[in-house]
Amino acid sequence: MPDEDFPGQRSRLVAGLRRAGYIETDAVERAMLSVRREDFVSGWTRGAAYADHPLDIGHGQTISAPHMVAIMVEAMRVAEGLRVLEVGGGSGYHAAVIAEAIGPRGHVWSVERIEPLAEGARRNLAAAGYADRVTVVVGDGSCGWPEHAPYDRISVACAAPSVPEPMRRELLDGGMLLVPVGGMGVQTLLRVTRRGDSFHVEDMGGCVFVPLRGKCGF
Ligand code: SAH
Repeated sequence: MPDEDFPGQRSRLVAGLRRAGYIETDAVERAMLSVRREDFVSGWTRGAAYADHPLDIGHGQTISAPHMVAIMVEAMRVAEGLRVLEVGGGSGYHAAVIAEAIGPRGHVWSVERIEPLAEGARRNLAAAGYADRVTVVVGDGSCGWPEHAPYDRISVACAAPSVPEPMRRELLDGGMLLVPVGGMGVQTLLRVTRRGDSFHVEDMGGCVFVPLRGKCGF
């Protein structure tokens, strides 16, 4: 491996995401500057850690491009101390960025259905110092994860055929669910905000995610 200037590459990527408007707040900028994306991938992929595109993490899955992580974490309207559910833990990178943005009083529960990926995410998160702030669980999170509900935010990192109904009910009043909805090719990122028993849906733009598998997925 050549000596790579990962901190320099990280600062340049984050500065570019801010200039382009994907990063809008200091909290998200700080979080993306703190989390080392190179530590969530292995082998030759590490060298591409700061290219703004998805990275292969094995088992046919990918970490989203940094601009998509920025879009999603901004769209979540992060605040200190939130309780967050992530569906599709993958490498653990996105969960680490959320954990960093919500601070040590918050908590992320991250569900991953592929056991070796969940184990890898646990290892990556522990090595990066997030073992206390992110709990990785293995299973089908396509309908949500009732065990730790209700949540302030739910962030789904894979594409669903429609907004999973049971997931909406795991939101606290005022809580938000971010979910890519559409076909297996391209989708629309939706933000669903709960107000009492009604749900307000906003279109946050186009996106491309791997499919959400399972009971409420494809
Ligand atoms: N957020 C991840 C990338 C997610 S890729 C990161 O930062 O690395 C999408 C992930 O969703 C894949 O790992 C896939 O296995 C997982 N997934 C798909 N369907 C799922 C389900 N029903 N429950 C939990 N995880 C699921």
